[in-house]
This record gives sequence, structure tokens and C-alpha cells, in this order.
Amino acid sequence: MEGRIVIKLVAATNNAHKLKEFREILGDGFEIVSLKEAGLEIEVEEDADTFYGNALKKASEVARITGLAALSDDSGLLVDALGGAPGVYSARYSGFHATDESNRKKLLYEMRGVTEIEKRGASFHSSVVICFPDGKTLCGEGDTRGTILFEETGEGGFGYDNLFLSEDLGISFGIATPEQKNSVSHRSRALADLREKLSGQGYLV
Ligand code: IMP
Repeated sequence: MEGRIVIKLVAATNNAHKLKEFREILGDGFEIVSLKEAGLEIEVEEDADTFYGNALKKASEVARITGLAALSDDSGLLVDALGGAPGVYSARYSGFHATDESNRKKLLYEMRGVTEIEKRGASFHSSVVICFPDGKTLCGEGDTRGTILFEETGEGGFGYDNLFLSEDLGISFGIATPEQKNSVSHRSRALADLREKLSGQGYLV
């Protein structure tokens, strides 16, 4: 029966927000330990040029070191008017020492000339990868559409959340409750895709 803990995995991320969302979204059926709880202090360099490539790199490295199944997400914001930027560079958009705040500031600056709201469309994308110690790998993909706001709205979430007006919710991810965001987010869609593949392959029974 789906719902009981059948997969123990290490979340291959140092991002506490992603870890929280993994746990909220996957819920029953998974026991998720953090890198810290697994006794690991590593930073995997994200130098691939696709979300999938980076997610695969992080999960396979952590599975190899821990001998446990590892789950990772590589995600980012793709803005139509900026030709898909910041894309895979979302975390480092404003430079090597980027913070969520400096990235949002840069995004607002780059979008200063795009004054019509209809031209401020954007998507979040997430690629999630699970790697098993035997080398088996499965991937899920998810997107969510929205509009880049002219100013930050709401205090919740992380990254670009408070600049992203969700098309599905009609409010920014910075205002949305975790439950609202998780009901439409790129990460929850990618994890739903992955869950289906896990079921299809007999990992979730
Ligand atoms: P990475 O996947 O760790 O390389 O970083 C993804 C970056 O994309 C984050 O640092 C955020 O800036 C952005 N991002 C990804 N998912 C979200 C989200 O759910 N909300 C807001 N920003 C996000």
C-alpha cells in the first residue's frame, strides 16, 4: 500500500527551504534525512548547463558517498523577457557571493524596461533526481507559470518567491501558505512526476 515508509533517502541539498518542501510534499512513504543528519558536509559544484545535469550530479555524488538513496532538486526561474535567464544560474544570478535578496534586486533591475505586465511572464522549473546506491536513477520534471511583479510582495518563501505572481494561485509565492505553494509549485509537480515513475518501477507498492 502506498503511504508507508518504503524509501529512506538523503536530501542532497544544503538549502533548508528545499528540504522543508521535500518533506511537506513527499510526506508518507519517505523518510528524508538532511546532509547534516547523514553526517555529510559537502558542496557539490553545480557546473552542468542543464537542471537535470546538476540534479544528477548532486544526487549521484551523495548516493555514492553515503551508500543511501539520494534525492536532489535543481531548479530556477526562467524569465521570458530575459530570454530564459537566470535559468540554471538562478542561485548565482548576482555573482559569486549572491544572496536571495541581491538576486531579486538584480532581477528587478534587469526588468526595469519591461513596463507592461503582460510581457513579464516567467516560469519556475524543477528537475528532481533520485539515485539509488545500485546506480539506478530516476528523474521528475515540473514547471509553474507566473508573472514577475514590479516589487516584492509578501514575506514568505525564499529565492524569487516574493516577486513571482503565480498564475494558478493569483497571488505571489511570497504571500502563499506552504500548502498553497506546494499545490502548484514546480517542485511539487516534479516530485509528483518522480513519484509516478517510482510507482511504475515498483519502488512504491
Ligand atoms: P539551485 O537549484 O540550488 O541551484 O538553486 C535554485 C535557485 O533558484 C534558488 O537559489 C532560488 O533562487 C531559485 N528557486 C528555485 N526554486 C525556487 C522556489 O521555489 N522559489 C523561489 N526561488 C526558487
